[in-house]
Amino acid sequence: MSAEDTHKKRLVIVSNRLPIVLNKGADEWNVEPGSGGLVTALAPVLKNRGGVWIGWTGVTEEETRSIDLSTLLKSAAGQSGYTLKPVNLSESEIKNFYYGFSNEIIWPLFHDLQTRCNFAPKYWNSYKAVNLKFAEAIAKNTKNDDYIWVHDYHLMNVASELKQMNVNNKTGFFLHIPFPSLDIFVKLPWRFQILRALLEYDLIGFQTLRDRRNFVQCVRMLLKDAVIHGKGQVIRCRIGKRESRIGTFPISIDYNEFANMAETKEVSERAWYLHEDLPHCCLILGVDRLDYTKGIPDKLEAFRNALIRFPEMRNRATLIQIVVPSREDIPEYYDLKIEIERLVGEINGQFTRSGWVPIHYIFRSVSRAELLAYYRTCEIALVTPLKDGMNLVAKEYCASSVEEHGALILSEFAGVAAQLQRNALLVNPYDIEGVAETIYRAFTMDREEQKTRMRRMRRSIKENNIFKWVDSFLRANIAKALDSFPIIDDFVPQGKDNDEFLYYENVKGLKQANK
Ligand code: UDP
Repeated sequence: MSAEDTHKKRLVIVSNRLPIVLNKGADEWNVEPGSGGLVTALAPVLKNRGGVWIGWTGVTEEETRSIDLSTLLKSAAGQSGYTLKPVNLSESEIKNFYYGFSNEIIWPLFHDLQTRCNFAPKYWNSYKAVNLKFAEAIAKNTKNDDYIWVHDYHLMNVASELKQMNVNNKTGFFLHIPFPSLDIFVKLPWRFQILRALLEYDLIGFQTLRDRRNFVQCVRMLLKDAVIHGKGQVIRCRIGKRESRIGTFPISIDYNEFANMAETKEVSERAWYLHEDLPHCCLILGVDRLDYTKGIPDKLEAFRNALIRFPEMRNRATLIQIVVPSREDIPEYYDLKIEIERLVGEINGQFTRSGWVPIHYIFRSVSRAELLAYYRTCEIALVTPLKDGMNLVAKEYCASSVEEHGALILSEFAGVAAQLQRNALLVNPYDIEGVAETIYRAFTMDREEQKTRMRRMRRSIKENNIFKWVDSFLRANIAKALDSFPIIDDFVPQGKDNDEFLYYENVKGLKQANK
């Protein structure tokens, strides 16, 4: 392949949300970088490669009519190094596709919480219609040889829609959340449609072997014409003439970015002040999005149990619990917030003494520097989701622990446990007393043991970083590594107009700033 051919190929990322947040100010809209695991993982991958990210803007189609969207997206792209292409969703699509099918059916079901599901039939129709909309946006914004990489549970039908539109680009799909066991998956009224739609992708990637095993078992039991063969990281599934690959690719972080930033003066100073403000205290950190899968109330109960049973922790251990607001418009999430606030108030009321408050509760998004200061300085991280696809917070905590101290208490049901199980302290998050005992164990763990464990976890995360994740996914699908999509130094926009091709114009400046 000539250099020119390579240059033309682009990586097209498709996800429900664009990696930005649009906010309505007093008299104008502004744009900020998005947060969350997917953005943290993929933003460094696309940066400066002249690729495209297709997704929903996060506001209604009706609202976007009053916004100069292309200027806003252009300014956001200017900071990120890739083109942003919007998919507009109407109020009813947001209600039925996003809040409905995605978040009232797939999200709870795939996290083993089927009693929280609402299997309303109208949600499925909307899911199909929106997946078609995404497929149309892909068809409009890609060229024949672009590689299309679709992310997550909102978009399981996209490859199937693309096929029907005769778009035959190579496609890959990565599921960021867990895939449930057969017993749970069969409850889904659209189980056959979803399995067949997923098998229209050329590669389907899962976070862990357990997720892949669950998926394969569902295919074997529910699709009689499917034949699974092969072994190793990537196996194959054949239905008639069509073959898809199914693989395990645990997602990761940009390790060096966290480790380097944790050593900057700004983070070091912030970290020092955090401890200075809470002298002689062991700091225990929780960082979770507001979500019932994160097990925040159970975690607070476990901390209370530890304070009751191990009185020497009183005055000497403080839990800093950061909860990042999310999906608050959904009543269940709002109720969860109230429950967390009630528990924090109750536990603080029960134990606070002059000079010591057991739980410092932060309900907001924190800046990257603030987050890293907490990661760097807290002696214990308490990561106890009831179920989680991966959990990047656990990896970020280790990468930022540059002094190599710190103990990681980790739920067995987080995908990351498969990688860190030997050196993290594994817990069953439903077992309040077990978690309390493990908190005490971490509290009393000697520094040498902490160091040995942390050093091993850091090494493993460093070796298996985000770039390796992308490389292994791309190699499994198109026999290419990330480097085949070159960094674009002097990009010349090729488009007919700025709307069609909004490439990052000052890549060199960005690279300088990153050094
Ligand atoms: N995070 C953030 N803002 C904050 C706190 C955390 O963007 O104020 C990030 C954090 O760095 C991590 C992500 O949110 O990358 C959470 O990812 P995780 O996989 O742990 O959970 P998810 O929210 O994706 O379920």
